[in-house]
Amino acid sequence: MIQSTMQEGALTISSLLEHSRKFFPEATVSTWTGSGLRTESFSEIGDNAAQVANALAKLGIGIGDRVATFMWNNNEHQALYAAIPSMGAVLHTLNLRLSPEQAVFIMNHAEDKVVFVDASVAPLLQNYVPQVPSVTDVVVVNGPADAFSAPEGVTVRAWDDLLEGESTEYDWPELDEHAAAAMCYTSGTTGDPKGVVYSHRSIYLHSFQVISTAGMALANSDLALVIVPMFHAMSWGMPYAAMMAGASLLHPDRFLQPEPLLAMMKEARPTMAAAVPTIWSGVAALLESHPQDISHLRSVTVGGSAVPPSMVRKFDEFNAPIVHAWGMTETSPLGSVAHPPADVTDPEEAFPFRITQGRFPAAVAARIVDSDGNVLPNDGVTSGELEVSGPWITGSYYSPEGNVSDPSKFHDGWLRTGDVSTISPQGYMTIVDRTKDIIKTGGEWISSVDLENVIAGHPEILECTVIGVPDPKWDERPFVLAVTTEGSTLDVPTMRAWLEERVPRWQVPERWSFGEEVPKTSVGKFDKKKVRQAYADGLYEVINGLEL
Ligand code: ADP
Repeated sequence: MIQSTMQEGALTISSLLEHSRKFFPEATVSTWTGSGLRTESFSEIGDNAAQVANALAKLGIGIGDRVATFMWNNNEHQALYAAIPSMGAVLHTLNLRLSPEQAVFIMNHAEDKVVFVDASVAPLLQNYVPQVPSVTDVVVVNGPADAFSAPEGVTVRAWDDLLEGESTEYDWPELDEHAAAAMCYTSGTTGDPKGVVYSHRSIYLHSFQVISTAGMALANSDLALVIVPMFHAMSWGMPYAAMMAGASLLHPDRFLQPEPLLAMMKEARPTMAAAVPTIWSGVAALLESHPQDISHLRSVTVGGSAVPPSMVRKFDEFNAPIVHAWGMTETSPLGSVAHPPADVTDPEEAFPFRITQGRFPAAVAARIVDSDGNVLPNDGVTSGELEVSGPWITGSYYSPEGNVSDPSKFHDGWLRTGDVSTISPQGYMTIVDRTKDIIKTGGEWISSVDLENVIAGHPEILECTVIGVPDPKWDERPFVLAVTTEGSTLDVPTMRAWLEERVPRWQVPERWSFGEEVPKTSVGKFDKKKVRQAYADGLYEVINGLEL
């Protein structure tokens, strides 16, 4: 064997930070204020990051200590993304929409010491901190210190006071690239939330994927509207990838409704944007009644849930093409991205590729397995549980006593995703459903995702979700909760007749409810657990009079 002649070089966040600070004077980070933008350069963000690190060091924060954020997407959060891991501490992004029990559980589990909180959500955090003894300091961002009243033993400061007088330089420590840099808990739809800990190396390598043309192609020429929260799977890696590529960022802060999103797009004309499908269906509905040119978006990244094909068509009409991606908190999160193959240039031929969950990058290995763990063929037809592995895929869940590779989630070094999918011979993965959401009816399977996609294609359906409900004869049958567009008079027989022309007859649901809204999870996905609870008793009224 001969030795390579290459140098070593740790892949660390501080090197991304210094790179962005020195080499991209033209790149900016902006936050929407509700009526305009407040903008800084990466060099100013870097100054703030160094000031934060100096101040945190004085508070006793050192290597491996957890520093939490309870914040929207904004410039201060961007500085914290840079500062905390660079100084060797661990950035712990807290989901603002967790239940109080989950939030307290997570903060105690991670043993957070300092928490940065946006003033607008300080009253929420107020309820949690007294139950988390590890917290010593709270820093209020975008508001005065008295927005948070401290329980005994906790010191509160305002952001400006924390940074006041601190140096804009920090001697970043040389870190092992495998050291913990950031952590994020899954939203815990079943059982307690589980902690995923990213390393400097995993974030660095994942950033290459975000800027790669096989990924999101985030570039120096981009202004990316980062709608996906910084507390949800690290904003899909964009805050770090932007430092690598010198891409400008536009953070929406707390203004996540369609109206302000379109207002900030009008003002800043971002070239790309990323969010879950429910955000885009709201934006699309508003665009129908209030047309606005959004063709400045060269790419709209959609993931987190399956994108309905009708949404892809609609955004094509808006001249803002959707790029569909699949991932999980456990996968950093970029798993697969749906770019059509180079030799398929006709838009209609490319369309079926674009609505798959896409192909995997070189660093992510993927396979599908049956219930005994046997590997199944990539024939595009056979479905099984998707398993993935690679340098930015988690191999265990965080535990203070030592990380745990629970066999229900890991299999021979592979992450069991809990998603059922097919993989085509060309490598395109299609999610059939989450294992727990597949509807088992009379010995056959119905994909709730497929049904949702078809129903969402009806012009008078604003949003819809499908769950399996117990049925005495068939074990389970699909139940649809749908929201119609304003003024629509759609009824169940009409919808059933419409569906009969589009899906096999036995799949057409008998149980329907037209509601005001589909409940959403803390990260904006349809919350099937809540739908199950809410409609468990009410169903029969809905099916009365309908023939099974
Ligand atoms: P949570 O499990 O709390 O929703 P994640 O955001 O980590 O948190 O969710 C990952 C899951 O989201 C995946 O396992 C998959 O079921 C679903 N998902 C993500 N992207 C897609 C997509 N493009 N199509 C279908 N499902 C998706």
